[in-house]
Amino acid sequence: MKNWNDMSDADFRQEVRRFLETEYPATLRHAAHRPRIHELRPWLQKLHAAGWSAPAWPAEYGGMGLNPAKLLILYDEEQRLGVSRGVDMGVQMVGPLVLHFGTQAQKDHWLPRILSYETIWCQGYSEPGAGSDLANLRTQAVLEGDEFVINGQKIWTTMAQDATHIFMLVRTDPNAPKKQQGISFLLARMDQPGITVRPIKTLAGEEEFCEVFLDNARTPRENLVGEMNKGWTMAKALLSFERIFIGSPNLAQNALIQLEGFARGRGAFEDPVFRDRFAQAALDVEDHAALYTRFADQLKRGETLGSDVSILKVWVTETFQRITELMIEAAGPDGGTVGPLQINNVGVDILSSFYKARPSTIYGGSNEIQRNILAKAVLELPE
Ligand SMILES: Cc1cc2nc3c(=O)[nH]c(=O)nc-3n(C[C@H](O)[C@H](O)[C@H](O)COP(=O)(O)OP(=O)(O)OC[C@H]3O[C@@H](n4cnc5c(N)ncnc54)[C@H](O)[C@@H]3O)c2cc1C
Repeated sequence: MKNWNDMSDADFRQEVRRFLETEYPATLRHAAHRPRIHELRPWLQKLHAAGWSAPAWPAEYGGMGLNPAKLLILYDEEQRLGVSRGVDMGVQMVGPLVLHFGTQAQKDHWLPRILSYETIWCQGYSEPGAGSDLANLRTQAVLEGDEFVINGQKIWTTMAQDATHIFMLVRTDPNAPKKQQGISFLLARMDQPGITVRPIKTLAGEEEFCEVFLDNARTPRENLVGEMNKGWTMAKALLSFERIFIGSPNLAQNALIQLEGFARGRGAFEDPVFRDRFAQAALDVEDHAALYTRFADQLKRGETLGSDVSILKVWVTETFQRITELMIEAAGPDGGTVGPLQINNVGVDILSSFYKARPSTIYGGSNEIQRNILAKAVLELPE
């Protein structure tokens, strides 16, 4: 089996770039919408066949076993080429959960099915009334014989309409003294009478996420991952390494490249006010990239990231939003055009970039919550 970590960073980057450029469908690069499963199937099959489904998993479980340095290069190349996140919650979230906390039987059953995309997963955490304050969640699971019976509602569940399975946080002990206690982690099939999925249309007109209603839904006892009532600690442990990726500079860098091309085509640089604002955005992108490199170096040295990493997400998403707003302004009366605008014979879809930027300050922990973390843990400000 190939040991990717033995390659030089430059060789690895070249290999990744070659693979992505050859195999990732051109039609899905920088896609304006989050692609659905039927669009992604051929690509997922190629990923699986090449052994590239799970970059961060250990090689003994079918992953690429990449160290943090190599992983950052892979994600960097994916974002550069506009590879969609697609339906990655099995590989990114359930797989690591089962790897860390699952029994051997759970690993043997679930990991190969996640790798081959035989199972497609959605994340059932958020509920009406339990978003930023997730520990408020009220969906209940009660053990009846060998099955959990689940009642409640999840919301904002990305691509639930395409998922074969859901992993969710549920309340298993409503009498626990603290709300963070008494929460467990369950896996369940989506195709059962107790589960109803209702897609929600976004501002962009896409059905990207859904409401999921659980009405006496059932799952066997062996689909409890980790200890009963210890789900909260597990959910938090899983988030630690992810925090740098959500703050990667690519979102803003790609938008800046798009803005520059668009503004040149439109002659917007003749306006000194636009030039000023463009320069400010470009400097923000550069500053952010420099800071990201500092955190990435920490990871490469094997260090754990501190709470200060929250700054990356705040900065990149707000810069991303400012850039897409500038793009709308530079388009003048065409700023509200749905679909691509033709600039020098190249189609640029500015409105979908604008729409993509809107929720980025909400998902992955809203920016207000990230600022609270910075205020408390880094600046040590009072409550
Ligand atoms: C595109 C997208 C995809 C998503 N996909 C999923 C998914 O697949 N699965 C899933 O479970 N969830 C998903 N979510 C939900 C996401 O995790 C929540 O939207 C997020 O946690 C915020 O929760 P909320 O929407 O309930 O807002 P609330 O928590 O109600 O917050 C509302 C506003 O109040 C602010 N606020 C809240 N508390 C504080 C505080 N203490 N101090 C200061 N300000 C505060 C927030 O920042 C926000 O501006 C997705 C969201 C988006 C936008």
